[in-house]
Amino acid sequence: METPIGVLLIRPLSAYLQQELSKRYTLFKYWQVPPDLRREFLGKHSNSIKAVVGNGVQGADTELIDALPFLEIVASHSSGLDKIDLELCRERGIRVTYTPDALTDEVADMAVLLTLATLRRICAADRFVRRGEWKKSDFNLTTKFSGKSVGIIGLGRIGSAIARRAEAFGCSIGYHSRSQKPNSRYKFYPSVLNLASDSQILIVACALTQETRHIIDRHVIDALGRNGIIVNIARGSHIDEAELISALVEGRLAGAGLDVLENEPQVPNALIGLDNIVLSPHVGASTVETRKAMADLVVQNLEAHFSDKPLLTPVI
Ligand code: NAP
Repeated sequence: METPIGVLLIRPLSAYLQQELSKRYTLFKYWQVPPDLRREFLGKHSNSIKAVVGNGVQGADTELIDALPFLEIVASHSSGLDKIDLELCRERGIRVTYTPDALTDEVADMAVLLTLATLRRICAADRFVRRGEWKKSDFNLTTKFSGKSVGIIGLGRIGSAIARRAEAFGCSIGYHSRSQKPNSRYKFYPSVLNLASDSQILIVACALTQETRHIIDRHVIDALGRNGIIVNIARGSHIDEAELISALVEGRLAGAGLDVLENEPQVPNALIGLDNIVLSPHVGASTVETRKAMADLVVQNLEAHFSDKPLLTPVI
């Protein structure tokens, strides 16, 4: 008798995804296994686990892939691939899929939301009202978004969607990517430092790779300047967080809007105490609508793979 197809779901993601996977496969819920029992668990079920479904926070690392000799596909519920050992997947002939496009609008909206929230200090204003301070004084003046110069690092799917939104606010757009986009009307900067010097708002929207780790360092922060703000909806490790914190504390940077952190979900105490930043817990794509679209794409990729049809959104 053929072994049923086992799917290892790394994190809970959505109830809808769990339900759709359970209908089709034997679903293993990895997050429910205590860390000290995981090795034993994988050993016990490795014969049937043919698919791993992870996301941008936890994917399929070397250790996990090595523990699954019959793994055929990693179907990621994210567009970032930095949590998957792609080299090892290539070596072992393991297919990899992801969920680009399904989340582009949502994450771009989040970038605009964080930009506005940081410039207009909406979270601090909310705290001000709740503390009853409105009766005693007016809230401090904030900074306008419309018409500012926006620098985007990574003019990919999300970066381009952010650019279109910023254009509607009358902003001028510059970008830094690996390559100049021939059909783009935005100004290309081969150097991220020059992009920062020419921008008032710097938005990080590139993939996390060896080259882009700490692409925002002290030099870039200082080039952006004391009135500048940084928004990060990509990955925490794009920013040298210690440098970001010292710039915010020393007034060398006006503010930051961060959906992702270097060691999330750990939040440095120094960030908690700052009033000129807005934090969100990696929820760029976390709406009911987008999570459903992402879940559908994961399921469709798995169905295509296990019925020998072309994958919808293949990486490998
Ligand atoms: P994408 O379409 O593949 O775009 C990635 C961009 O990164 C491209 O413009 C690429 O430049 C640029 N890039 C790659 N290496 C670079 C380098 N060394 N220097 C400068 N730019 C570089 O991906 P996407 O769908 O827009 O997603 C972008 C990232 O957003 C993902 O990788 C993920 O980490 C993050 N994300 C976050 C959330 C969230 O919840 N906060 C949700 C989804 C995605 P070229 O075009 O020149 O190749």
